[in-house]
Amino acid sequence: RAKEAGRGTFRFFEAEMDVRLQERRLLERDLRQALAEEQLRVHYQPLADCGGGKIVGFEALVRWTHPVRGPISPVQFIPLAEECGLIMPLGAWVMRRACTDAATWPDDKLVAVNLSPAQFRHADLAKEILAVLKETGLPANRLELEVTESLLIDDPDRVLATLQVLKEAGVRISLDDFGTGYSSLSYLQRFPFDKIKIDRSFVSQMEKNADSMSIIRAVIALGKSLRIKVTAEGVESASQLNLLQQENCDLVQGYLLGKPMAKEDLGKMLSIASATHEAAAS
Ligand code: C2E
Ligand code: MG
Ligand code: MG
Ligand code: MG
Repeated sequence: RAKEAGRGTFRFFEAEMDVRLQERRLLERDLRQALAEEQLRVHYQPLADCGGGKIVGFEALVRWTHPVRGPISPVQFIPLAEECGLIMPLGAWVMRRACTDAATWPDDKLVAVNLSPAQFRHADLAKEILAVLKETGLPANRLELEVTESLLIDDPDRVLATLQVLKEAGVRISLDDFGTGYSSLSYLQRFPFDKIKIDRSFVSQMEKNADSMSIIRAVIALGKSLRIKVTAEGVESASQLNLLQQENCDLVQGYLLGKPMAKEDLGKMLSIASATHEAAAS
């Protein structure tokens, strides 16, 4: 009897696995098609100076609106792209799009592009990025690459070599989602980071949780002493912004300053002097 029940459970899992596999294959097929048919878009979210509110640039965030399912989050399809070998063409597409768009912005605005660890497994990554800069005419110092801590575990020597080539060309490197992964402080010394982005989870808790506030304070102090700029992610309220200003955080990003937007909607953001003042006034 137990055996039968066991077998039933097994069949149930098997069926469920089938559905999930099938589901994944369909999504993979659709993503491949989306890439080929240019169904993907890049949205841009402002990055602002914490004290004065001046917009220093925008983070490029990929968007996919599935023809039947509607919008699908990059949290869902980026890992899928990594698993099914689509991250290289997808990453290259985002890079080209973002650099092309940024080349039309005022020359004091940079563009930050996210890179998956999987993209670093390809030997030509640095060369490809530099080729896109050349083609689009975007100066290297207006491109920032956002990488996560998980990247640094894999093959640190190789990653370091790639980052150094880019860094020497003038590209900036930003450590994204800081504090959520494998945060080894020695990496801050070893890798050429220009910026650290404090993960949104700390910012969202900073007013309720004294430990989150302490971590934010410590990261800001660490950034100051290592001469690495610190960005706070996910700033949603004026009170969070005030606290970050008191702590002398360098940069902020979040819905308070502006949500990710299509490039056609950036016009106002590109011309106004201050996002925070605008946000505070509204
Ligand atoms: P991320 O790089 O940490 O990007 C910030 C995410 O936080 C974005 O989510 C953004 O929309 C969201 N966000 C910004 N401000 C706020 C806020 O005030 N409140 C809240 N609740 N959320 C805020 P999104 O666009 O869904 O992207 C999620 C993640 O997907 C990104 O996290 C990044 O890891 C990845 N991703 C997005 N675009 C790309 C891409 O082109 N390439 C790669 N490799 N990864 C990407
Ligand atoms: Mg990012
Ligand atoms: Mg981030
Ligand atoms: Mg984050």
